[in-house]
Amino acid sequence: MFVDQVKVYVKGGDGGNGMVAFRREKYVPNGGPAGGDGGKGANVVFEVNEGLRTLMDFRYQRHFKAPRGEHGMSKNQHGKNAKDMIVKVPPGTVVTDADSGEVIADLTEHGQRAVIARGGRGGRGNTRFATPSNPAPELSEHGEPGQERDVVLELKLLADVGLVGFPSVGKSTLLSVVSSARPKIAEYHFTTIVPNLGMVETEDGRSFVMADLPGLIEGAHSGVGLGHQFLRHIERTRVIVHVIDMAAVEGRDPYEDYLTINKELKEYNLRLTERPQIIVANKMDMPDAEENLKKFKEQLEEDYPIFPISALTRQGLRDLLFAVADKVEETPEFPLAHEEEDTGVHRVLYKHEAEQTEFVITRDPAGVFVVSGDAIEKLFKMTDFSRDESVRRFARQLRGMGVDDALREKGAKDGDTVKLLDYEFEFID
Ligand code: GDP
Ligand code: MG
Repeated sequence: MFVDQVKVYVKGGDGGNGMVAFRREKYVPNGGPAGGDGGKGANVVFEVNEGLRTLMDFRYQRHFKAPRGEHGMSKNQHGKNAKDMIVKVPPGTVVTDADSGEVIADLTEHGQRAVIARGGRGGRGNTRFATPSNPAPELSEHGEPGQERDVVLELKLLADVGLVGFPSVGKSTLLSVVSSARPKIAEYHFTTIVPNLGMVETEDGRSFVMADLPGLIEGAHSGVGLGHQFLRHIERTRVIVHVIDMAAVEGRDPYEDYLTINKELKEYNLRLTERPQIIVANKMDMPDAEENLKKFKEQLEEDYPIFPISALTRQGLRDLLFAVADKVEETPEFPLAHEEEDTGVHRVLYKHEAEQTEFVITRDPAGVFVVSGDAIEKLFKMTDFSRDESVRRFARQLRGMGVDDALREKGAKDGDTVKLLDYEFEFID
């Protein structure tokens, strides 16, 4: 099985910061708190688009950072939530967390969506911290940081276009010059015969998978357990590209070749002759090719388009690829009768959240106490250290989490240095 695989970095937008503000009204010397909350940061959302067939686009863009929420404002105005960042993926894309290996989403149906990185919530403004004992708090939160992670996208590739033609007409050469990417071959035991398969990208940014069809069929005959996969490939193959050697080397007759191959396609009983064909007149750089093409056109009975090219000099490829991409888009699949096999892969969506560590205390070589952990780092990032009240709240929160006790237990004394992210504090007992 061929897989298109790519690793990308995703980050949800940070929440907007909450604001510290007070009402300024006539006749009210010290108005109450009026700082609004920050808006929510955007999620990074993957959405299936059935028009996509490969993960080619991700080769150019590997970073997806969603926008942050708007900051809170005075007069209790909340910041706006940021709009989700929608990233289109082809059907069949499986998304896993690069570190844990956990499946985050298995995206199959057109329009199906999954949140891949959550945006952070907005920080609260000072209005929300008012209490009877502290009616005018100078305290607000920064926005919650958006979730960030590396994810692996994986797509099992099926052929959209099948190359057919006699040996030595130039199928492999054509595939090698039009495909910019060679997909990985998944670890299977039957990969001794490797059908030639490549991902093709047109100049206008469309992409599709092209395979050497006889190679596939040959593989199916000799390979163990290839049956179902093979049928899926053939079903999905919407367009047949029939390559003809117009130079007619070795005294061959291009039109006879054409008929022979079509007869063979019919004998496979895989509905192959029902598919639209595009005829490629190859080796047009050779003498006699023009003459042979003229004769071929006169003999051809079907109304198939013919594209004269030279795979060697790369002439005529651009128009050919546009025509193939158009045909792929407008042609449906050709279902074959076969039993729905139990692949053992059930479409379950694992939405497992990695458990967050509250905090961990270690000591660096210099003896400094280093505090780390998801929960405590998040608290830290949401604290506005420019305000005493916020700093005091942070200290209270640490105490509440048991950080002080844990430090004491580890031997921390009054005046010792404690490090969290890039900041250093003094331990006060
Ligand atoms: P396949 O058996 O259909 O895969 O054919 P190959 O791609 O292996 O090509 C067979 C031979 O034809 C090789 O020697 C190629 O270099 C040659 N060939 C392929 N395309 C062209 C072409 O456009 N012009 C010429 N002159 N030779 C070509
Ligand atoms: Mg070949």
